[in-house]
Amino acid sequence: MSAVLLVEDEQHLAEGLRFNLELEGYDVAIASDGESALALLQAEPLRFDVVALDVMLPGINGFEVATELRARGQFVPILMLTARNHPDDVLLGFEAGADDYLPKPFELRILLARLGGLLRRRAWLAQTSQQTNVMSESEKPPASYTFADKTVDFTALELRTPQRTIKLTVMEADLLRFLFKYEGKPVSRKTMLEEVWGLHEDTDTRAIDNFIVRLRKYFEDDPAKPKHLLTVRGVGYRFVRQPEE
Ligand code: CA
Repeated sequence: MSAVLLVEDEQHLAEGLRFNLELEGYDVAIASDGESALALLQAEPLRFDVVALDVMLPGINGFEVATELRARGQFVPILMLTARNHPDDVLLGFEAGADDYLPKPFELRILLARLGGLLRRRAWLAQTSQQTNVMSESEKPPASYTFADKTVDFTALELRTPQRTIKLTVMEADLLRFLFKYEGKPVSRKTMLEEVWGLHEDTDTRAIDNFIVRLRKYFEDDPAKPKHLLTVRGVGYRFVRQPEE
């Protein structure tokens, strides 16, 4: 059974969601503000498989909760519940370390799909190096990827450079895996949103740019002059494994 921490101050909404999530087989706990959510996650860091985090909360907001969790080294997947009329929330959420977002008000089936998606991706990432996997060696997605003097470990969700080790969110790891798969080829923002995020509706593609800025900070020697993660004007981005000097 997967455990969800629902961080939501509107009691009616929280109780309604709990009822429906429990019907779907989830184990659900509710925190009515950010402070108690952080306390709960500190006391039992491994209890929850996913956090559904409202942005608008009475004390510290959802962005601050996500930022604090990531700063502590807690990488539980976060689904940010944003306000539909605040598109900037999406960017702020990703910057704070959210893995996905859902504008309010939302339909229950969409919430379930997003939570399920995050849980599946996490399980899949954790499985990639297990020998019990039914896929043959050649079919398996690689458990790690090395370029220049950097390595992305998809099992540990880490990016290692000679200087430091960076913890990755599920979404950052997914995006890297996608870019590595299309190594050398330009990929559009729209393709990235569809293939990495599973978003087909009309979504603000600036969310992608925000991720790219973060990834460049992680592994480019000079993020302002990237050598691996290049902008392709009018198209999107291109990952280069071995830049020409
Ligand atoms: Ca709220």
